[in-house]
Formats: sequence, structure tokens, C-alpha cells
Amino acid sequence: MSLPLKELINIGAQQLRDAGVADADIDAKELLCYMQGLDRVGLMLHWQDVMQDNQCEAYFDLIARRAARIPLQHITGRQEFMGLPFDVNDKVLIPRQDTETMVEDALELAEKGTLRGQEYSGSLRKGGDVLDLCCGSGAIGISLAKLSSKLHVTCSDLSREALEVARRNAALNGCKGVKFTESDMFAAFKGKLVNKKFDLIISNPPYIPPAVIEGLEPEVRDHEPMMALDGGEDGLDFYRVIAAGAPDHMKKGAVLMLEIGHDQRAAVKELLRGTGRFDRIIGLTDLAGRDRIIVAQLAPKTK
Ligand code: GLN
Repeated sequence: MSLPLKELINIGAQQLRDAGVADADIDAKELLCYMQGLDRVGLMLHWQDVMQDNQCEAYFDLIARRAARIPLQHITGRQEFMGLPFDVNDKVLIPRQDTETMVEDALELAEKGTLRGQEYSGSLRKGGDVLDLCCGSGAIGISLAKLSSKLHVTCSDLSREALEVARRNAALNGCKGVKFTESDMFAAFKGKLVNKKFDLIISNPPYIPPAVIEGLEPEVRDHEPMMALDGGEDGLDFYRVIAAGAPDHMKKGAVLMLEIGHDQRAAVKELLRGTGRFDRIIGLTDLAGRDRIIVAQLAPKTK
């Protein structure tokens, strides 16, 4: 069997559609690009090619895996985030475009001392130490290190396997200065002699209630690591730990930035407010206009 490339992709896309894959056309093209080592422009240049028997077979093998609802990124091993390449596997959450907004906000804060154009002073403007808590693939911390030379980034995660991926991603992006710490939340940052403090603590922690996870697409539910998704009964477990623990690890004027689920703004703000340790607690939306980020500043000591 030999087939024109265009036809091959059409058949692949149809098989993905039949399997209920949302972005069937895009994924059918991406898999062809991956197989041939082409980018999307290269694909267009080869649009008239005829694919030989063995190529068709290899392509349909990839299509079959995607039709089984294995995430595209687990097949290709890659996801782009902030325009940078990231290796991914089933030990880390696949970085989401929604999370880029928070990274852009952090970069604005570091570079200009503003947040969406509004003054939001903090110690970050002079550069500083950043902790990416629950770093997974390292998407957040590594992009910050890559895109702002002022920032000294530490990525931490409970999962050793995730940290291995994150380390690879730092190397892939030439970020030699990024540090990695295996830690159950803040555990590794406090001790009798040292209590490590940061200018920015940024985190996209697990925040989905298990009951909601059950109803998610099979790509997420069956293939992404449960420990990166599961935020406990009400989805807020990690925000509770962060609200209680973060202040002890924040320098004067430091900022906390958290990604949240679209319906968690009020609850997370309340958790932070309840500690009495944070000021200027604000919610920000993502590109789709949904609540996505909470920012807060460490309150000055009142004494
Ligand atoms: N920080 C990583 C990301 O945003 C992983 C988040 C997680 O595992 N919950 O992609």
C-alpha cells in the first residue's frame, strides 16, 4: 500500500475522530510530523509526497496508539511551553497553555514590578530567589529561569521521577543554574539551622477533586499522574498546606502565585486571608477569561 501523504493524514484523522479524539486533524498531522521529523512548514512542503508501505504502517501504528487515547505528548515525548521544548512522560503533568499566563505574570513582576500593568511592588523586581513548588516537568521554573536572567530558580517536587524529567528539561533548555530539591511541600526547606526563604513562591499544585477526575477525558484520567491532579476531597488540600507553610519561606515583600481551578478563587483567597499573613490578595484570569491565578504578598510584620 502506498498513499499520498494528504490522503494518509485524512485517513488517520478520521480514525482519531471515530475514537473520540478532540483535535483529530491537528493530532493526525502532528503524528506525521513526529514520524518524519518535520515541522508544520516541512509538512506542507511534502504535501504531495507518496508514502511507501512501511511508512504507512508506521503511521497507522502511531494513530492506533492515539486512538487508544494515549496523549499525543506521551507518544511524541514533547510539549512546548512558553515557546520552549519540554520532555514529558507519564510521571509528570503535561504542561498546559493555561499555565503560561501565570508565568507571563511572574515575568512582568520580575522585569517591571507590575502585574497586568498595575503597580505591584515586591522584592522580586530586583530579581531574586524563586521556588517552583510541585514543579512536575519543571515547565514553570525552567521557563522563568530561561526568560529572566534575574531569577534564581529552585524546582521542587515530591516525585523523584518528576524531578528527573525536570532536570532533563533544564539541560534541554540550557538552564544550568536551576536547582532541584526533592521535598514534600516545604519539608526540605526548613531545618534547625536553615529556613530557606524566597522572593517568589510559584505553584501549580494538584487541585482537582477525585470525583471530578473520574469524569475527565481518558487521556488525563488514565494517563497523567494522579498525584499531579488529585487535590483531595474538595481539591484544596495543597492550598491549605501552602497557605500555612509559605509565609515562613517568604522574604520581606515576597510574592506568592498560585494556579487555581476556575471555581476555586473565593476559597483559595479565603484560605490565604484566614492565615492573616498575606496582603494584596488578588485573583487573575486566563486568556479565556476564567479565574486561573491567585497572587498575594507577604504581609509586613505588625508589631
Ligand atoms: N508545575 C507543573 C506544571 O504546571 C506541574 C503541576 C502539577 O503536577 N500539578 O505543568
